[in-house]
Amino acid sequence: MKSPPDEPEDGVIKFSATHDERPLSEARHATLAAALIAWRAVFVHLGAIGQAESRYGGVGFGNVSGRIGPFPGAPGARPFLITGTQTGGRDCLSLGDFCVVERWNTRRNAVESRGALLPSSESMTHGALYDLGPHIRFVFHGHCPTLWRAARALRLPTSDPSVAYGTPAMAAEVGRLHRETALAEGRVLAMGGHEDGIIAFGRTPEEAGSAFTEALARAYAARFLTDGRLCRV
Ligand SMILES: [Zn+2]
Repeated sequence: MKSPPDEPEDGVIKFSATHDERPLSEARHATLAAALIAWRAVFVHLGAIGQAESRYGGVGFGNVSGRIGPFPGAPGARPFLITGTQTGGRDCLSLGDFCVVERWNTRRNAVESRGALLPSSESMTHGALYDLGPHIRFVFHGHCPTLWRAARALRLPTSDPSVAYGTPAMAAEVGRLHRETALAEGRVLAMGGHEDGIIAFGRTPEEAGSAFTEALARAYAARFLTDGRLCRV
């Protein structure tokens, strides 16, 4: 067991982690990791995953995950592979940059995980999404100012601005959005209390990734219709 370090803003791990540091099996996880690494690369190109001095105080941002094995399992026990904490700025990614979240308890704010790195600070939110239903197998979290600012115009389900990311309250908020908004039909939500935070999900990595890029294109179209031109993309 290892206690996570305190890190500023996006890297803050706000749950208590029980972590097994043994490395992950290539044979078991390489195919899923390949899909996640590929879409993470697309998000890096879009500036939605990364690390920059000019953004969020220089802390790494964004993370991707994919559910392992068949559904259903018990809520809070549907293991998923997720990028490790503070990997947003890494130029090279391998299986060693991931971990498996085995169990989570949103009420107790606790996560059990395995792998060389501690899980992303957003793991609880990813877990809450996987608990919503079998149609969610991939969850991508990126930071996109264009999409975040267009959330209202695009009618994206948006979490309450008073709810901080990575908290049990955020997990509950994801459930509320799924019950009360168009999130049940859509695949993109904005995190009202997490600057530029967007979450996309789907049955496949393509569904989750394209939900994000399609929403981004709609945001650019909306900006053009408002301004009569589109600049500085
Ligand atoms: Zn974030």
